[in-house]
Amino acid sequence: MGIYLDYNATAPLRDEARAAMLAAFDAPGNPSSVHAAGRHARARVEDARRTLARAVGAAPADIVFTGGGTEANNLGLLGLLAANRCTHLFVSATEHPCVHAAAEHPGLPVHLIPASADGVFDLDHLRSVLARLDQEARPILALMLANNETGTIQPVAEAAQLMHAAGGFIHVDAVQAFGKMPLSLADLGADTLAVSAHKIGGPMGVGALALACGTKLAPRNLGGGQERGLRGGTENLAGIAGFAAAAAAALTDLDKNDSIRMLRDYLQEQLLAIAPDALVVGGNAPRLGNTLCLATPGFAADTQVMRMDLAGFAISSGSACSSGKVKKSAVLQAMHVPDTFSSCAIRISLGKTTTKDELDSFAAAWGAALASIQEKKSA
Ligand code: PLP
Repeated sequence: MGIYLDYNATAPLRDEARAAMLAAFDAPGNPSSVHAAGRHARARVEDARRTLARAVGAAPADIVFTGGGTEANNLGLLGLLAANRCTHLFVSATEHPCVHAAAEHPGLPVHLIPASADGVFDLDHLRSVLARLDQEARPILALMLANNETGTIQPVAEAAQLMHAAGGFIHVDAVQAFGKMPLSLADLGADTLAVSAHKIGGPMGVGALALACGTKLAPRNLGGGQERGLRGGTENLAGIAGFAAAAAAALTDLDKNDSIRMLRDYLQEQLLAIAPDALVVGGNAPRLGNTLCLATPGFAADTQVMRMDLAGFAISSGSACSSGKVKKSAVLQAMHVPDTFSSCAIRISLGKTTTKDELDSFAAAWGAALASIQEKKSA
């Protein structure tokens, strides 16, 4: 299968999650049914809710299971906005596309809050726009905790304080941060916080939205009253069980993140020794310990991804590829990374199974690919 260095895209399924899912598949029952099978299924869902609540620092009653991180972000941002009749919508410029797309939906003007060259959210800019609002305004902000492309960690707690002091709300996309750093909705002061199972070794297509106590939220999926009426639809029992098992395992594995960070730093040093003109995007800001976004001028990102794929390594490019067209990364554009770098940015993201030997062989293969490109150019 080769060497997997794309944990920010998705993490391999954890054994604990697989076992929990198989157990749930083998015990049929609709959590809304009143008979014994239904009650067992309900118990499994409520057990999972308690685990998730513990993992994100919220109360079990304030966890809403969703069909993934995208849905949780949509529900958090649009649900808060609608229930609280927000009047002004602020979105950090480096958000995930699912947040930008959701922000377009209500038809309110979207005010983008810029980021520094290292991708850090501009708190002063937020402060100045909030200061200009009138007393009746009810602003809402969408701000991620950690960026998927660069790993940059955002000053969410400070932004939450500013929003609340202005009578507003904050939705936090914690999809990438979850499992990679300690996380608490209560400590961050978030009103809503989105997480996704497959980024922590759970199954794809399951996520959760955590709410601060007493938060008003309007549902988006209307149906049979599941999830306290906040997300209609029969619960994805096996998915939820797998998510909770992965979350519990990720919590106990949090201390492994230090060694992952050391490995990432080791790889970064190796690659910079091979290509001293390369740029570590977001390298001067607080960053997730598993993520390296590296831009090597003259070594196109799609070429790097293909070359490394042929050599047996899975990595991503900083630019998103959709419908066969490689688009510029909106995140790197928001950071004003010059085109010569952004078109050459790759993302390498490590996980708990990554070893130093794997990184040594990656560095060797990457160095060889770069040398062959340079040779071709000079021929
Ligand atoms: N938010 C961030 C920061 C992400 O990285 C992703 C996935 O790439 C999502 C949201 C969407 O999550 P999901 O894939 O579960 O829909």
